[in-house]
Amino acid sequence: MNDAEARLVQWLRDAHAMEKQAEQMLSAQVSRLENYPQLKAQIEEHLEETKVQALRLEERIKALDFETSLVKDAGGQLLAFAQAVPGMFAGDEVIKGSLASYTFEHLEIGSYRILIAAAEQLGDEATAEVCRKNLREEEAMANWLSEAIGPTTMQFLSREVLDLESAKR
Ligand code: MG
Ligand code: FE
Repeated sequence: MNDAEARLVQWLRDAHAMEKQAEQMLSAQVSRLENYPQLKAQIEEHLEETKVQALRLEERIKALDFETSLVKDAGGQLLAFAQAVPGMFAGDEVIKGSLASYTFEHLEIGSYRILIAAAEQLGDEATAEVCRKNLREEEAMANWLSEAIGPTTMQFLSREVLDLESAKR
């Protein structure tokens, strides 16, 4: 493996760690969204996509680097982000969760754009295609969240007002 190929494998490992974080973050959110059925359904769907994305990356990592175990990807720099998310859940957990998801999708989009460019430069079409597949799903999720984040905020505020009024009675 030359330096550029080693770099590509390292970035694939980072992306794999990122998807594992996404999986944790999305699972944590699903359990808290019973009052937001559409958002919940969308998160559940993206959770399933996310698991497949991680498997696609695993296959490319194994194909390119059959010597190193997959467990080696620690993704240390990403851990801080996902660990901060549960701490953010307060009364406005649906809003903090939506903001975290919206941010995370854009991190994923950037990561796959980098990987596609690197794979194309190396002539690794199989890796480029896997990353394009994942990228399309991240873009679709980012677009969905982009449309939903405003209405979700209004719904949250309306619910909060209703809860306060019923508490006064
Ligand atoms: Mg993903
Ligand atoms: Fe995603």
